[in-house]
Amino acid sequence: MNYDKGGMRLLSIKKRIQVFRVKMLYNTLNKPNDHLERFLVNFFISENKLKMGLDILKGITLKVINTIQNEFYRNACKAWVEMDIKYIPPSKTSINNLSIYENVLLKNVEGRVFTSLNKVKNLPRTFDDLPFPVLNRSLEVGFFIRSLNSALDRITYGIESYYVKNGEDRIDLKDASCKTLYWLHMDKVEITLPWKSKWENHFANLEINWHLVWKNVHNNMLQYKVQSRLWEFMNLNFISSFNLNRMYNTSNLCLQCKMPEENIFHIQIYCPVSIRIYDKFLPLLNTIFEIELTEKEIAFGLDITDWSNQRKEKLRNYIFSIIKYTIFKNRCSIQASNEQKIESIFNKSKKFIIKDLKLGFELAKKNKNITKFKEIFLIENILAQYQEDTGVLVFNF
Ligand SMILES: [Zn+2]
Repeated sequence: MNYDKGGMRLLSIKKRIQVFRVKMLYNTLNKPNDHLERFLVNFFISENKLKMGLDILKGITLKVINTIQNEFYRNACKAWVEMDIKYIPPSKTSINNLSIYENVLLKNVEGRVFTSLNKVKNLPRTFDDLPFPVLNRSLEVGFFIRSLNSALDRITYGIESYYVKNGEDRIDLKDASCKTLYWLHMDKVEITLPWKSKWENHFANLEINWHLVWKNVHNNMLQYKVQSRLWEFMNLNFISSFNLNRMYNTSNLCLQCKMPEENIFHIQIYCPVSIRIYDKFLPLLNTIFEIELTEKEIAFGLDITDWSNQRKEKLRNYIFSIIKYTIFKNRCSIQASNEQKIESIFNKSKKFIIKDLKLGFELAKKNKNITKFKEIFLIENILAQYQEDTGVLVFNF
């Protein structure tokens, strides 16, 4: 899955192979009829229930495709169907030799393909063979032909092409790169997202814009290790006393505050120690961007719709993300009183931010883009000030 859907953009080898095979089939389709490669591919694909060759790609159901005997071409054609590639026929006559049955171009009034089940006796397989008009036809045959004709009228004809849908847009296969096809293919996969329903059930009264939430997680101001921890948070697949208790019946006490964890969200949102740490940062957070700290912000960060103009909100998210990261990292390692823990994690978070800014500053100095660094991290000199004469960064918090 892509970042904005909550994925880690890990590549799927299977999907990549499928895309290459689809591209291979498409290239073969565009070769002249007497081309040897086309002849061979057509030959191998022909070994199926309907004895169709490459025409199978014009919209025949998976049921028929699964009957292709050659494994390689069966998988290639299956990938074609899985990627939901649509065909636009140029005219009515152009589909005369296609199968009437299991043809997704032709659907009855209920929106179903004509299957061999509703195949009426003595009616041929293709339009070419269709005895139409038929005199003295039975009621049954008459009904079937009417239904077929109206299906024919519902097809959209146009310039012959194959395309994939991208939302409302159509991408012609001739213009689609493997990369584009790959991401479209990845996005189509319905993956169950248990974290999504957990968050949505817990915050049933909130509208969660997941696209923005994931943008906050992959905020480019944050180091990768912080991003990956936030990602874990959102995916709710970290170890917590609450989870362990449900799995192994172990103690449900939060290792940070020593109170029972009411749910998986405890450490981020409800732990009294975490809340006290957030409170200690409030003055700084409010200097950056003054707004009440809500549970929604604690969980997801501020909704930033326009990133170019909302640099202060982004900076507030940057600080808050680091606080959450530090809490998470130290949640079971500090053996001390709650007061000492609060003080310790507060200082660790501050140190992290300072170290991070110093690192970013040194990098900016080396790459000669201090101006950009100032624009992003040093807004109104809230966090730090760049002293041009000495060339050093002076921290203000
Ligand atoms: Zn706690």
